[in-house]
Amino acid sequence: MTQTSQVEDLTSAGLEHRIAEQSAPLTNGSSKTNETNGVHTNGIAKHQPGDLDASQLKVTLADPNARQVPDEAAACASFETVCTDHMITVSWSAASGWAAPELKPYGPLSLMPTASVLHYATECFEGLKAFRGFDGKLRLFRPNLNAKRMLMSTLRISLPGFQTAELEKLITKLVAVDGAKWLPKSRPGSFLYIRPSVIGTQAALGVQAPKEALLFITLSFMPRMDSPPGGMRLHTNPEDMVRAWVGGFGYAKVGANYGPSLLATNEAKARGFQQILWLYGSEGYCTEAGASNFFMLWRAKDSEGGKLQLVTAPLDDRLILDGVTRRSVVELAKVRLAGELDVVERKYTIDEVLEASKEGRIVEAFAAGTAYFICPISLIHHRGVDVQIPMGKTGESGNYTAKIKGWMKDIMYGNEQHEWGVVVNDE
Ligand SMILES: *Cc1c(COP(=O)(O)O)cnc(C)c1O
Repeated sequence: MTQTSQVEDLTSAGLEHRIAEQSAPLTNGSSKTNETNGVHTNGIAKHQPGDLDASQLKVTLADPNARQVPDEAAACASFETVCTDHMITVSWSAASGWAAPELKPYGPLSLMPTASVLHYATECFEGLKAFRGFDGKLRLFRPNLNAKRMLMSTLRISLPGFQTAELEKLITKLVAVDGAKWLPKSRPGSFLYIRPSVIGTQAALGVQAPKEALLFITLSFMPRMDSPPGGMRLHTNPEDMVRAWVGGFGYAKVGANYGPSLLATNEAKARGFQQILWLYGSEGYCTEAGASNFFMLWRAKDSEGGKLQLVTAPLDDRLILDGVTRRSVVELAKVRLAGELDVVERKYTIDEVLEASKEGRIVEAFAAGTAYFICPISLIHHRGVDVQIPMGKTGESGNYTAKIKGWMKDIMYGNEQHEWGVVVNDE
């Protein structure tokens, strides 16, 4: 091995390579694929023992009459997250790889107190929704992106990789099994929240990559958070605190990013704000709003052409999470609002926001993520200054925010047939 390749293996380039390998389809019909023995171009055999393999799923169904489906309001008001009848679990060990996945009644996990996850935060997760369309169909929204991101997060904390297509199949199966009862056709326009996670379970103290892990998927109620009365109010982070840093892991959905953010968030809540607007560095770069991506719509200065711009933080320094919602907003706006505004992914500071506010150039702002969906922002509080953000004629949302949200909603709930809305057949 040359010196250069050793250096590369220790950097994120090594990770990138593994992600590309495992999120490629197993049989891609390319000329290099040997169809007779299923060997993929990059040498990964189809369904080798130890691969994550959804076709091996063992199913143990719950008694369908044991639990009643609560109404949405009651379920969302509960102290505990209300999960559906079933969950999926898959255990992994370094010795034998992924075991056969199991779909079984929802219930507690069993872990030793010395399990890796409980000490060293070897945990990552995903969040996506299952939607009951107005056409009666069940849909996921771009689940391939969640599966790919989960692989990236998993590898970032030295948990085992997997073929992302297999994770997608497992997610689809859980939704197909519990969809008819828990997201019935009588509730069009509602959703359930899907939470896949991977944790290090090896019962061994000592800071090391776990040799045992567990992947599990739950399906649950989640409150609608996309339209708080009067809009979402953001408070910038305390001066001596950041959410993520260059060279860190803010771009990965690892549990270690979230627990430490609660201190500032709780304080902001006590002051009447919903989320922290996380700034970065002495420059005060705007990054994310809580665990959502953050968008500003403003007019550029006259000296810079005065054009309408939809601005959001870039992905290239890996400070922020590459949100599926963020990406979809960027892609839709670039195509559908092409004549009206420019989509700009760049670093921008809170001082630019303050200046735009002073000059009356702020048009709208919103948070974007699976949980908050597209949530209008009405106020940003920064170091004693309130930046008021227009909320449209209705006082509920600016026009562009509403328009983009409407397009997304139409795709999610089947009012518009679109490749991002992936139909799941109820079982
Ligand atoms: C999950 C998450 C988002 C939103 O990502 P989506 O894929 O749109 O749900 C944004 N920022 C952070 C920090 C997150 O954890």
